[in-house]
Amino acid sequence: MASGTVCYACGTTYPSTERLRCDCGEPVWIEVDPSGFDWSAVRDGEQGVWRYADLLPVEPSTDVSAGAGDTPLIRAERLDEYAGCRLHVKDEGLNPTGSFKDRGSAVGVGAAIERGRELVGTVSHGNMAMSTAAMAAGRGLDCVVLVPERIPPGRLELIAQYEPTLLKVAGDYGRLYDETVSLDTEPAIEFVNSDAPLRVEGQKTVALELCEAFAPDVPDAIVLPVSSGGHASAVWKGLRELSAAGVVDDLPRLYLVQAAACDPVARAYREGAETVTPVDPDETVAFSISNASPPSGNRALAAVRDTGGAAVSVSEAAITEAQSILATEAGLCVEPASATTLAGVRTLTDEGELAADEDVVVVTTGTGFKELGTGSEPSDARTIDLGDLETELSAIVSNPSG
Ligand SMILES: *Cc1c(COP(=O)(O)O)cnc(C)c1O
Ligand SMILES: [Zn+2]
Repeated sequence: MASGTVCYACGTTYPSTERLRCDCGEPVWIEVDPSGFDWSAVRDGEQGVWRYADLLPVEPSTDVSAGAGDTPLIRAERLDEYAGCRLHVKDEGLNPTGSFKDRGSAVGVGAAIERGRELVGTVSHGNMAMSTAAMAAGRGLDCVVLVPERIPPGRLELIAQYEPTLLKVAGDYGRLYDETVSLDTEPAIEFVNSDAPLRVEGQKTVALELCEAFAPDVPDAIVLPVSSGGHASAVWKGLRELSAAGVVDDLPRLYLVQAAACDPVARAYREGAETVTPVDPDETVAFSISNASPPSGNRALAAVRDTGGAAVSVSEAAITEAQSILATEAGLCVEPASATTLAGVRTLTDEGELAADEDVVVVTTGTGFKELGTGSEPSDARTIDLGDLETELSAIVSNPSG
C-alpha cells in the first residue's frame, strides 16, 4: 500500500518508506495510493484512526492506539458571536493522552513494531513525549524519551507514569531533532519526531474525520495552531489524498495560527517569503507551539498557499481570553496552544478573511487539564454555613447572575 516516500517540494521519489528528508533538504512524506478510496472504504469494524487503515502504511490494532482519533466535532453555536462565523470545535483533547499527537504516535509505534524495532524514541518535553510513551506501553515496545535538562517536574511526572527510558539531555536541545535524524545506532531506533513521515500519516486522519463529518461537503476553513509544521503538513496531506481520490472537490482553506512571541511561519507568510526563517523567540503561554525553527515550516507555508488560507499570529492577551471563552461559553478545557485557534479566527473574521456564514473548524489540539490544578486558585468561591444552604440557594435562583 505504501510504495516509498516523495518530496512535496521537488517531487523526488525514494523507494524506502524509512526516508525522512529529501536531498533538497525538505521533509518527505510516505506515498500512499488513495485511488479507489471513498467513505464506504472506512472500516466500521475498527476504531479511531484505524477506521482509515486503507490510507495508512500500517495494520490496525486493538490496544490503546485504537483510542486515538474519532474525537467529537462540536457545533459550538454559543461561540459564533465571538468568532464571527459558524464555529465548530474538533476536540482533540479527548485522545488517550489528551492531544492529537496520539494519532501520529499510534501509527509510529505500529510501524516500529512492523519494522522489527527494539525501541521507539522521541524528542519532546510535552504532549508528544507522553503520547509516544503511552502508545509504546500499550503495545509492549520499549521507548526512549529525550527531554531537556531543565524540564518542569510536573511535566516530567506526566511522561514518567508510562515508564519510558527518560534521558535528560544537557546542551543545545534545539539541535537534538537534527541529531536524531542522522543517528546511526545498530539496531536502529524508530524516532517518531514532530514531523516524521509516520507521525504525519497518523495525524492526517483528523482531516479525514472532518471531511467525513461534512460529507458530501467540506468545511470552508480549518484552523490549526502550528509549531513544527508536522500537524499542518498532515492535514494538508489528508486533504490532498481525498482530493486525488475524487472524494472531495474543493479543499477547505487551511489557516495556521502562532503566538506572536514565536511566529516564524506567520512572519514568513506576512512577508510573502518562500521559506521560513528561524526567529529569536520570546516566552509564550502557548508553550506547545514555541518551535522557533520549525522543521516543516516551509511545508506548512506551502499548505496555506495551496489551499488559499493564511498564517496569522495572536497576542498573549488574545490567547488567554480565547482560552477563557472556550471554557465559559462552550465548556471546553483546552491548553493555551489550542486556544490560539479561536483567537486567530477572531482576527481572521475582523480582517474579512472568514465570513459570518462560513463553517469554520478550529482544531483544539490539546486538553488544558494537564496544566490545571497546580497553580493558584483564581476562584471567587465564598464560604457559607450549612444551616444557610436553603436561604443562599434561594437567593441564587431568584437572581441567577447576581
Ligand atoms: C505539538 C502540538 C502542536 C503543534 O503541532 P506541530 O505538528 O508541531 O505543528 C499544537 N498544539 C498542541 C497541543 C501540541 O501538542
Ligand atoms: Zn525535495
